[in-house]
Amino acid sequence: MRDLIVAGNWKMNGNRQFIDEMMSGLNKAIFSESVKVVVCPPSVYLLDVSQKAKTVKVGAQNMYFEDGGAFTGELSPSMLIDVGCSYVVVGHSERREIFAEEDVLVAKKVSAAVRHCLTPILCVGESLEHRNSGQFFDVIARQVKIGLSLLNAENFADVVVAYEPIWAIGTGQTASPAQAQEVHELIRKVITELAGENVSERISILYGGSVNAASAQELFSQPDIDGGLVGGASLKIDEFIAICSAAA
Ligand code: 13P
Repeated sequence: MRDLIVAGNWKMNGNRQFIDEMMSGLNKAIFSESVKVVVCPPSVYLLDVSQKAKTVKVGAQNMYFEDGGAFTGELSPSMLIDVGCSYVVVGHSERREIFAEEDVLVAKKVSAAVRHCLTPILCVGESLEHRNSGQFFDVIARQVKIGLSLLNAENFADVVVAYEPIWAIGTGQTASPAQAQEVHELIRKVITELAGENVSERISILYGGSVNAASAQELFSQPDIDGGLVGGASLKIDEFIAICSAAA
């Protein structure tokens, strides 16, 4: 009933040669119809990737919430649509931590994406400090509530949520399937409280943080995990295809 999605976040990696190789590999791969595969290249390559993509969808890694104007260095939702994007990652922890993006800005981006019919992948997740202090439920619930706060409840189902514990990103230390499931269940419960079960049952919640071909299957088989947001392993064509197959 919910979309199964595997999205590869290439972060600030790759060049034109890498893209030629990746896209030819992805175009040859046979994906199950039950999984939506998305790739999120650096923005300078979005047009090239969407022109090459035959079966996979394309997402941006970030955008600004305004439609246009004097915002040097930024990209608008309509520009992303214009170059073939259907998804946009919003509020990634690297944006929050390195570029000081706060929940309210993230909420504006989520709302602008939905208004333009781009699917936002709203990232939430706690630091190691919050995990160890036991405050992680509160931190994540707040990020979800504020992130969705500018939408009408009936639009919540237009959003994909990604749970990415910061301590699991790029560390090789994947959350255990039980740890991830516990948080995904909490996120769905928070959304149920805001918008009812009808809506929360339709929202795909992805797990991200050191997902690889070995860990994907068990993670994706948890009842509230609807796929993954994959960083490092999405840069290796065979491994990414294996992760996509694990979601089917
Ligand atoms: P890794 O898979 O490299 O840990 O990155 C996860 C991530 O941040 C995806 O957005």
